[in-house]
Amino acid sequence: MTEIYRQVQQTTMELKDIICNRCGKSCVSPHHSDQTGKVTCYESATLMANWGYGTDKDGETHRANLCESCYDYVISACGIKPNIYDYVISPHGTKPSIKDR
Ligand SMILES: [Zn+2]
Repeated sequence: MTEIYRQVQQTTMELKDIICNRCGKSCVSPHHSDQTGKVTCYESATLMANWGYGTDKDGETHRANLCESCYDYVISACGIKPNIYDYVISPHGTKPSIKDR
């Protein structure tokens, strides 16, 4: 064997919380935790933008999270509503299906 490995200590990161960028509240879902009480689900909307050449934010990536009520507030200010999908669970996996509202 010509490859020699050494043990290194690695630090792993675990998601602790998602904070809403608008109101500052936690986006934790109170109904989703494992047997130890560890939260296993967060409910949030993610806004992400990659700003390209010629914009005021040239080359920047912006990312923000919104809780459900802040998401509803922001969406209510939009003239065009977002596409809404239902997730259908099938033997072949979870697939989105568009929903008319
Ligand atoms: Zn919020």
